[in-house]
Amino acid sequence: MTVNKHLCFISDVVKEKNIYQSKESLCPFCDREALSDIIDEQDSIILVKNKFPTLANTFQTVLIETNNCFENISTYDTYHMRKLITFGINHWLKMEKSGDFKSVVFYKNHGPMSGGTVNHSHMQIVGLKDIDYKIGLNDEIFEGIEIYQEGSCSINISSKPKVCSTEFNIITTSRNDNFMADNIQNIVKYLLKRCNSFNLFFYQWKRSIICKIVPRYVTSPLFVGFSIPQTSNRLNEIAEEIKNTYYSIKK
Ligand SMILES: [Zn+2]
Repeated sequence: MTVNKHLCFISDVVKEKNIYQSKESLCPFCDREALSDIIDEQDSIILVKNKFPTLANTFQTVLIETNNCFENISTYDTYHMRKLITFGINHWLKMEKSGDFKSVVFYKNHGPMSGGTVNHSHMQIVGLKDIDYKIGLNDEIFEGIEIYQEGSCSINISSKPKVCSTEFNIITTSRNDNFMADNIQNIVKYLLKRCNSFNLFFYQWKRSIICKIVPRYVTSPLFVGFSIPQTSNRLNEIAEEIKNTYYSIKK
């Protein structure tokens, strides 16, 4: 039996999206009155059906994180950040449980190198009708040099990253949204002082919920051409730098 591993990109929808965006002067996520197909909302956080679904055999939703066009994960207060992560994880798991999809991906693009097209902070929850995102994953990509640990939750920097030289894993076993939210924010604050783009990827992996945070630069041609991932000779140094930020917070 062949396993489907490819998503089909519908290029006609991109054309429609470009025409729509060039006509509209307002940011599409600031223009709240014009939002349609709202699935759920909590204060300034809204989940909507994606107006321009570009992926075949999927159900694409957009999670608008805030009503402020200039805020992002590094600027939210703790209360908003925790509320956002709980709202997102709840909807992701609800879609998984619905049985309508082979699997559901929950992720975020931030910045020009991340694959994002709208600046207003948002995440995406996408139901995949015929692809299981877990195929091709293994324990190794979530293992690494430990940065911080609290009970059964931990943070590490991947020693065998999936693609990039620096990938951070936040592992909660079992679910612990506050640990997840607080630590995503800590790592993102560290990264945005050093680069302008990152992705968040969420995984249900064995008994854990894991978020992988990946700073984005141009993808290595060795990965594109030969699937050879890269690590870095600075992993220990980066782990130490971030550990120091934790110790200074704790003091
Ligand atoms: Zn906006």
